[in-house]
Amino acid sequence: MGERKWVSIVVLQAVLSAVKHVVGWRLGLTLSYARDILQKEMLPHVGVEENCEAKKAYYLGYIIHCLLLCALGRRAVDDRDHYGNKRLDLAGPLLGGLFRILFRKLTRDVRGYAQKVNENSFILIVYIFIFFLYHSLVVQCVDNGKDFNLHFAIKANTITSGFKYSLATGNWGQSNADGTRAGVSQVVLNRLTYASTLSHLRRLNSPIGREGKSAKPRQLHNSQWGMMCPAETPEGQACGLVKNLALMVYITVGSPLELVLEFLEEFGLDEITSAVISEATKIFVNGQWVGMHYDPDNLVKILRDLRRKSDIHTEVAVVRDIGLKEVRIYTDYGRCSRPLFIVDKQKLFIRKKDIQKLKKKDIQKLQQRESPEYSGWRDLVANGFIEYIDTEEEETAMISMTINDLVSGRLKPGESYLNTYTHCEIHPSLILGVCASTIPFPDHNQSPRNTYQSAMGKQAMGIYATNFQSRMACEKFYSFSHYDTLAHVLYYPQKPLVTTRAMEHLHFRQLPAGIVNEEKKMGTLVKEDFGRPDRANTMGMRHGSYDKLDDDGLVPPASGTRVGGEDVIIGKTTPISQDDAQGQASRYTCRDHSTSLRHSENGMVDQVLLTTNADRLRFVKVRVRSVRIPQIGDKFSSRHGNIPGYYCQPPHAIPSRMTIGQLIECIMGKVAAHMGKEGDATPFTDVTVDNISRALHKCGYQMRGFETMYNGHTGRRLSAMIFLGPTYYQRLKHMVDDKIHSRGRGPVQILTRQPAEGRSRDGGLRFGEMERDCMIAHGAAHFLKERLFDQSDAYRVHVCERCGLIAIANLKKNSFECRGCKNKTDIVQVHIPYACKLLFQELMSMAITPRMLTKDVKQAKDGKKEGV
Ligand SMILES: [Zn+2]
Repeated sequence: MGERKWVSIVVLQAVLSAVKHVVGWRLGLTLSYARDILQKEMLPHVGVEENCEAKKAYYLGYIIHCLLLCALGRRAVDDRDHYGNKRLDLAGPLLGGLFRILFRKLTRDVRGYAQKVNENSFILIVYIFIFFLYHSLVVQCVDNGKDFNLHFAIKANTITSGFKYSLATGNWGQSNADGTRAGVSQVVLNRLTYASTLSHLRRLNSPIGREGKSAKPRQLHNSQWGMMCPAETPEGQACGLVKNLALMVYITVGSPLELVLEFLEEFGLDEITSAVISEATKIFVNGQWVGMHYDPDNLVKILRDLRRKSDIHTEVAVVRDIGLKEVRIYTDYGRCSRPLFIVDKQKLFIRKKDIQKLKKKDIQKLQQRESPEYSGWRDLVANGFIEYIDTEEEETAMISMTINDLVSGRLKPGESYLNTYTHCEIHPSLILGVCASTIPFPDHNQSPRNTYQSAMGKQAMGIYATNFQSRMACEKFYSFSHYDTLAHVLYYPQKPLVTTRAMEHLHFRQLPAGIVNEEKKMGTLVKEDFGRPDRANTMGMRHGSYDKLDDDGLVPPASGTRVGGEDVIIGKTTPISQDDAQGQASRYTCRDHSTSLRHSENGMVDQVLLTTNADRLRFVKVRVRSVRIPQIGDKFSSRHGNIPGYYCQPPHAIPSRMTIGQLIECIMGKVAAHMGKEGDATPFTDVTVDNISRALHKCGYQMRGFETMYNGHTGRRLSAMIFLGPTYYQRLKHMVDDKIHSRGRGPVQILTRQPAEGRSRDGGLRFGEMERDCMIAHGAAHFLKERLFDQSDAYRVHVCERCGLIAIANLKKNSFECRGCKNKTDIVQVHIPYACKLLFQELMSMAITPRMLTKDVKQAKDGKKEGV
């Protein structure tokens, strides 16, 4: 005992000296302070109460043991890209974390205030904390403390405004503080297509720098099977870092740990002692080493049975690691898990009769998961037919891909591992996410094509919500900063002939996105006086037409006003107070703040909404609609990442893209059209090209979908047969009318005097480096000069021939002067780009003298004074 105490003092002193290095000497740095650190800050998940030392010592030993095993090569290094080692933050933990930060700020502020009021107010702070629990105590405290005023101490809006700030900007945590994360919540929900909305809601972001060189986090990991969609990820910087959840994935929300601990206690765990460690199996619960056990097989079996009966929470994971002699149990939140059929003796737990029973129930009510008597899915889980398996437990399960695998396991029990199945996939196509699930036959495509289609499906037009006619005010409710919202609606959407089974659950049939169109644009503005501005007394009015405004300052929706060009659609003015406008004042009484359409936009006024916002300020939204009949240049695409906008596919489109799925869709579409049925194009099924071909043959067609065709001009038969069939096409949101652009003269940037950039600013078309290189290669020097100089930022300066610096020139008075050289005669005119002149002046401001030497040229030209 004596020795033990001595050791612990040595340890405490070591901790103390380490702490001193970090925080410096401070009052209260005693041995008990060091003990406090060991108790509360080291391995807090093992315990923070008294007498945890032994547990912590064992845990530390365990860690070191792992480290040594790893160093000796007897254990693999942990894989940080493994999804079992990752946790996903959903709204709950994120908001919880945010609250924690804000609450800490609140208490810190209270402490700051208390310290100001009373120097030795430590006790007071303690009372403040208690206040949150026992309000009555605080009353006493306030009586004792001198001028302590709760209203000043507690800033009531700290938490509210903190939440508002983070939700509006997406910066998680306090503004400009460490550890804040940007881009958590501010992204506006994508409403282009119903599928894009669903997909957006299942998106996942890895907080790893986009520029990171390591490829590992971007690659598909084995543990992502069934959890993350293998196809749906953006191209470019975020490739592989932004992921999408597979269809059936469930993220655990956390369940009480106590139930599991209670059970383990009842079951009887052995104490951790050095004697048993090498023999028994270690039991961990959420990473905490709770004890040892000699019969892990039984323990794991009972735990799993309890879970299947919902006696312990269905999201609890039980992992049995035989090699390391460990049983790991998890109840925490943020684990990816997915449902699987439970298999026993090569048979599904769920039987035909259970399915029949389910079928008898009202399917409509079954789908409303909330109704208690028809809780179809929940029943399946509660009856132990299906269970949720998380990434880590998945690795201890033997999962058969199909029911056929189970059958062959029964027939040939000896063969390989066929008799060891514990689970069965519900359907292999469930590994896909929302967007990839709308691709027919994705298992016959080259994989990047599925990725392209997953991105393109989100740009397809369709009907994005059934209430789109009345959706206007609700979009972008609390942020008026980017006020225009665009929506695309397809006039005659069609449902595809060739579908996948998942599409039914994604409501693709009700809200399709394929095959004439309507587009809306919304403008919002806040408060001020609405009314038609008057040129006589309004300052800063626009060039556009104000004629279409009614007396209330808004465009009338009823008469179907056509607006376009730079027409003003919302007339609004703010009064100028007389002291603001000095001098030129008297004429104007107000300033124009009207909203106009962009010069490239046009359409009919569809709806005008006049209402007030939360602060009771009036605001207006105007919905403008324009009909876009498909025209040459609009973008269309099949569902296979194939872009061409033709009704007739050139044969060259197939070999390079290798989208065999498109060909199968085409031939299946033909069968479906003739039979008046939908074709099933779900991946990983028994549907084969031969089956489809036979079905087509039965419809009286050539088996492979070929047809004889005749020349439309001559009526002569074509010597080759042509492969023909219907294919579902998507109309994408990119349309030429939104992109078409040209300009002769136009606006220039103020700084460089080069043409402005971008269509929205009526900018020039960029003649970039590569175009320049091309012209150099052609030797087209004069053309090059015209593009880069005459058509861009041509400028001329006058240069002193003696010093090479820019001189003062007054062409009207015909006087020239270089003040540095006192030179008024040797001055020449030089043509240079304005950007070049700018650069020279910037260099001069940095005390570098760029000189333009013109003499040599002059001498070459027989001594005459001439410009360069
Ligand atoms: Zn000079």
